[in-house]
Amino acid sequence: MFRMTGFVQIYTGNGKGKTTAAMGLAFRAAGRGLRTYIAQFLKAQPTGEIEAAKKLAPLIRIEQFGREGFITVREGPGDEDLERARTGLARAREAMLSGEYRIVILDEVNTAVHLKILPEADVLALLDARPAEVELVLTGRYAPDSFIARADLVTEMKEIKHYFAQGVKAREGIEK
Ligand code: ATP
Ligand code: MG
Repeated sequence: MFRMTGFVQIYTGNGKGKTTAAMGLAFRAAGRGLRTYIAQFLKAQPTGEIEAAKKLAPLIRIEQFGREGFITVREGPGDEDLERARTGLARAREAMLSGEYRIVILDEVNTAVHLKILPEADVLALLDARPAEVELVLTGRYAPDSFIARADLVTEMKEIKHYFAQGVKAREGIEK
């Protein structure tokens, strides 16, 4: 059977739309009967995408590997954060190698590496293991140069304006 080639995509930058773009890709793929596995790093909170994925199961599967609450700048990440992120990367690797998923999204993985919650080398090892037909998407601010060098597509969401500056917090259905 003819298998389409997969590529490595990165959505980074400070502007809104990184996670939304990745979810849009999963939605589009679902329409063509392609399955997507999504690991969300750093997050452990109810989101619209989790509810939507339930409605599209088994075409989209989302798992979260963060801790509730924020990692504060002062305290930094703890062992629990590192352990959960490591588990997430292992799950994503399994999904990628299972042959069940055409698309694998590592949401906020760039940020997790930037915060030293995940070793950069471990993510590069996952990139090395990518089967040719799997589309791999890495999202989050501060994509490391080593990821950018290895990617086939890199989009930077550039903030021109964001209502966050006006004090608008994440809204259900729009940001979460
Ligand atoms: P989206 O999920 O809407 O596509 P994104 O994935 O591009 O956004 P992230 O960096 O993952 O963006 O997270 C943005 C979230 O963090 C928003 O929900 C917002 O409420 C919050 N946030 C915190 N600080 C900022 C900031 N300086 N600019 C924009 N958003 C911010
Ligand atoms: Mg995001």
